[in-house]
Amino acid sequence: MEHVMHGRCTLCDRTADTEKHLTCPSCGEQGILEIEYDYVTMKQTINHAYFQNNVDPTLWRYRPMMSLKDTDFTRGLYLPLTPLIDAPRLARDLGINALRLKDETRQPTGSLKDRASAVACFKALEQGATHVACASTGNAASSLAGNAAKLGLQSVIFVPERAPKGKLAQLMVYGADVVRVQGDYKAAFTLSKAAIDHHGWYNRNAAINPHLVEGKKTVALEIAEQCLFEPPDWVVVSVGDGCTIAGVHKGFYDLKQLGLINRVPKLLGVQAEGCAPFALAHETQQNLVECEENTLADSIAVGIPRNPVKGLRAVKRSNGAFVRVSDEAILEAMKTLGKTEGVFAEPAASAVIAGLSVALKTNLIAPETTVVAIITGNGLKDTDSANRATGEAAHLPADLPTLIAHRKDRDNHA
Ligand SMILES: *Cc1c(COP(=O)(O)O)cnc(C)c1O
Ligand SMILES: [Zn+2]
Repeated sequence: MEHVMHGRCTLCDRTADTEKHLTCPSCGEQGILEIEYDYVTMKQTINHAYFQNNVDPTLWRYRPMMSLKDTDFTRGLYLPLTPLIDAPRLARDLGINALRLKDETRQPTGSLKDRASAVACFKALEQGATHVACASTGNAASSLAGNAAKLGLQSVIFVPERAPKGKLAQLMVYGADVVRVQGDYKAAFTLSKAAIDHHGWYNRNAAINPHLVEGKKTVALEIAEQCLFEPPDWVVVSVGDGCTIAGVHKGFYDLKQLGLINRVPKLLGVQAEGCAPFALAHETQQNLVECEENTLADSIAVGIPRNPVKGLRAVKRSNGAFVRVSDEAILEAMKTLGKTEGVFAEPAASAVIAGLSVALKTNLIAPETTVVAIITGNGLKDTDSANRATGEAAHLPADLPTLIAHRKDRDNHA
């Protein structure tokens, strides 16, 4: 945090001390802050040599570019640099020359949210907190609970009724204090806010807490490093609250300010057809309006996104776009991703593949461009959706002739 200058309000443009305020003192709750760095001094130490000589194989190799004090990060969960995988079979299937997958299913609790939750927990420790709390559609909660457990912090979690079983199971195993709020994400968010104010817990609600975007941006820093500072033309990411895509933009933006990359990739934000407030606002150039949450992709079922300004800006400033995908296309993409590349993604993560397919079909993305798709969460968290995508396994008696007949039938179909 030695390079942090201040937070700048995304509404009124005033600055505030992010060590004292989570949101803008003038605008209140809606005044989400964006952390700004002194790139002139940061440049003196954060350069190509810094990355070449840095042997830290975890997310904390980027700590001097973040809003955290240096500390013993080995006390927390191990946050690996996740692989950037060539996906030639999937690329062929989609009709694109080069596609790479940033595999966030391998994070310690199984989603990209670990990048933000780890930051939240260390920030909470900096401030002497004993409790951390959030409302979440699932992954923010399970990652907060896991990261908090490792650091000996108590997590208090508010989830909507519809949270998938796998994510709830994670919460319970990590020892979180879990409240399943009757109603949707909006209801869970509102109650969490009131409870956090009342008890003085550390607030991990991603949109409100500006440090979390700083955690999420590390995914872009990693992608850039893995591409040897020649970023792809497009980066595809699914969008719920808008914090992830804002983080992706921030990471590339920082690198550009430091002169380490020449351009920020175009960002393709993917939303579910049944819940696409960002896509609508982007197309109509209007303010974001609340909508229903009609999609099985629970991690992006966000009817009132809490980070509208940052999310919309990220896409706009990158000259990117939004696309919408149906639940059927998401389930189809889940199967394709698993079958071609051996990656098992949850619906919100599979959505990027469906979104890329739409972008290719509509000539938004040309087949000769280079693309990185961020696979944000692990499919094991939501096996009900996976079962819907694939159907049931064959159920046969232990009898070879029956098996042979069955196989023949399958091979004919193949
Ligand atoms: C949270 C999440 C997203 C979307 O991130 P937002 O910050 O809400 O836009 C996408 N995929 C997965 C798996 C997530 O958990
Ligand atoms: Zn303000």
